Amino acid sequence: MTASKSFEVIIIGGSYAGLSVAMALGRSMRNVLIIDSGSPCNLQTPHSHNFITQDGEKPAIIAEKAKAQVLNYNTVKFLNDQAVSGKKTKKGFTITTQSGTEFDAKKLVFATGVKDIMPRIIGFTDCWGISVIHCPYCHGYEFRNKKTAIMANGEKAFHLASLVNNLTDDITILTTGKAEFTTEQLAKFKKHNIKIIETKISEIEHENGHIKNVILSNGNKVAYTAMYAALPFTQHSGIPVTIGCELTEQGYIKVNNFQETTVKGVFACGDNSGMMRSVAHAVYSGNITGAMINRELTEEQF
Ligand SMILES: Cc1cc2nc3c(=O)[nH]c(=O)nc-3n(C[C@H](O)[C@H](O)[C@H](O)COP(=O)(O)OP(=O)(O)OC[C@H]3O[C@@H](n4cnc5c(N)ncnc54)[C@H](O)[C@@H]3O)c2cc1C
Repeated sequence: MTASKSFEVIIIGGSYAGLSVAMALGRSMRNVLIIDSGSPCNLQTPHSHNFITQDGEKPAIIAEKAKAQVLNYNTVKFLNDQAVSGKKTKKGFTITTQSGTEFDAKKLVFATGVKDIMPRIIGFTDCWGISVIHCPYCHGYEFRNKKTAIMANGEKAFHLASLVNNLTDDITILTTGKAEFTTEQLAKFKKHNIKIIETKISEIEHENGHIKNVILSNGNKVAYTAMYAALPFTQHSGIPVTIGCELTEQGYIKVNNFQETTVKGVFACGDNSGMMRSVAHAVYSGNITGAMINRELTEEQF
């Protein structure tokens, strides 16, 4: 780390999105501080897929490689810490970390990701990212032709079922309550032999995160190899809202096509501000953010 407390840009979150911002800014010789608390959302996933050049790589290795490349640019600094508060100042922004240090910057980036809210089902968290998965593009191929459950209801379940149907013909939707489907949707399920179970789930039996059985609240056991789950989420950091950034109805930080939030000088990228949840999207939106911040700084200084 550096003794300096003032930077042109502070990036909160040093995973794929934050590192991608820093790459563009480091190559533009901007003084940048990345603050990262070290808990990306895919921490438990053994292999990451669907990002070219890194298909099947361990998620942490992708981030380590990115960090090493970014820190080759000596105007970029990385701090292992958590940003706990932030405020607007006359010159820009001040961020305070858990260790009690204050840092200033002209521009601020939130690359903070989101926090998935785990349901209260025994065994669920142990299987998250291993055999309980969020996305067919990331992990669906690995579970092709397997007995698969989809824990979701309504539109989300219908959408997931239509995607997963191309990967396996053994699908059961677990609605964990009264099924909410239209007559047309039910007809599609029938056509593709997709089953529906409405009973609540009390436990997922597993071996090291690999599902063996789903135990229903009526005591029935059903064997599956994989389960898709559409989980609710919250923002990983509360600072964007305290600084005045608006959220969308779905809970994402509101950004325009240039990743600018509703607060001048504040940008957001990656999972916290977009529904396309993938490493590729995080890197893409971080790359745009870096270029847009550099453009702003250039216009202010040139
Ligand atoms: C279980 C699972 C498996 C996945 N598998 C794949 C896959 O195979 N392929 C794929 O393309 N995508 C996959 N994804 C999606 C992918 O992981 C995310 O889209 C990607 O990690 C988003 O990157 P990000 O940088 O926006 O956020 P994250 O990677 O979640 O990182 C956010 C970072 O910000 C830090 N942070 C948050 N708040 C603060 C704060 N206040 N101060 C300091 N630091 C802070 C966190 O510690 C974290 O390091 C998976 C997601 C999940 C949940």
